[in-house]
Amino acid sequence: MSTQGSVLALGKCLACLEFMLFPVWRGIGASSAVGWSQGWGRCLRWEPDSRDRGTRIPVFDYPVWLVFCRRGRARLREACQRGRGAIRLPTDLLNLKLPQLFDIHQVPKVFREDSIVSGYRHPRSSAMDCILSSFQMNNETINIWTHFLPTWYFVWRFLALCSTMNFLSDSYTWPLLVYMLLICIYPFTSSCAHTFSSMSAESRHICYFFDYGALSLYSLGCAISYGYYVMPDCWVNSWIHQHFVLIAIGNSLFCTSISCYSRFVELQFPKRSKALRTGAFVVPFIFDTAPLFYRVLTCFWDGSSPSDALSSHCYHLLFAFLTCFLFTAHLPERLAPGRFDYIGHSHQLFHISAVVGSHFQMEGVIADMTSRRAWFQLHGAMPSFLGTIGALAVSLTLNLAVIGIFSAPLLWRTRNGSTQQQACKEQ
Ligand SMILES: [Zn+2]
Repeated sequence: MSTQGSVLALGKCLACLEFMLFPVWRGIGASSAVGWSQGWGRCLRWEPDSRDRGTRIPVFDYPVWLVFCRRGRARLREACQRGRGAIRLPTDLLNLKLPQLFDIHQVPKVFREDSIVSGYRHPRSSAMDCILSSFQMNNETINIWTHFLPTWYFVWRFLALCSTMNFLSDSYTWPLLVYMLLICIYPFTSSCAHTFSSMSAESRHICYFFDYGALSLYSLGCAISYGYYVMPDCWVNSWIHQHFVLIAIGNSLFCTSISCYSRFVELQFPKRSKALRTGAFVVPFIFDTAPLFYRVLTCFWDGSSPSDALSSHCYHLLFAFLTCFLFTAHLPERLAPGRFDYIGHSHQLFHISAVVGSHFQMEGVIADMTSRRAWFQLHGAMPSFLGTIGALAVSLTLNLAVIGIFSAPLLWRTRNGSTQQQACKEQ
């Protein structure tokens, strides 16, 4: 299999029934197996009677995708032995050691997640262990991938827009430019935060500071795009419209500061911490979405049929509420602690719901942008550099400063800790 096959270390065992060696993804070109056959789902099965029939051992002439599982390496070794040379794997692969996983009582409190019992990575993992762990099934793997893959979807959409719009010289597109940059950055930052959050308690906090910072900047991107494309007609050029971006910058600073602060009180007052963090994200959301709520409500009051843009915005609102519910409710894992440690816990659903919501929001923003251009031009409400890219630059700088302020004591503690350890070793 080494010569033909690509190997993907990705997950836990899908089935551990007798004769099932390991789950595989059968590559293109596979014919019906002789000796080997497809078992349940994507599990490759060893047929008991094929032991006596050497000729029935197939040679893989197609790529096979492997999923490592518990005892996966032992099963793989067994498969190579029983394959009598038909299956050859590089020794590197068989010697590959995946990091050990831990249960909740084996990791420090700061790493523990509500109702997640197992699948914790080592709390002092190296950066390489963290990267490797994204290919090993643990309680963060799906969190990592549910934001890593959508990042590339949004990048693809952004690149497609770049080929059709003139982001350089057409000032009307700048709010969309800011929004698209931030919609690509927030899932990527989140994915990185989840990947590297098990290096130490301090690095965990700092990783999530950046995650919160990226989310609050994304809320600024929403405000900028809403302020220039989504604003109801009767609000245009009003006081709130003229100060919309400025207030959104204040909101993003408030959001980052409160959410970062909430991590410091998490161990002592978990409920207060959760309330602070939820509030930190809900406040900018309500402010950003106020113009949209107004448009949706007037559409219902008038009884008029919603535009395509408004329909997309409504779907986005639906997913935004679902996202908030999942974030606060910790369902379904709260109902059956330990059952959803690897797949299906609320944070994974929260990620998926947030991304689907963002997709509909993006569609709504693009639809509003293209359909309302002439109207905004006529009413002299065109975007300025300062109100779009300038606002992003200012907010980015201030948010990084806030993250720096919260990270400094943690970095200081890490530095002091390592200096003391060094001194102890020298003594
Ligand atoms: Zn997350």
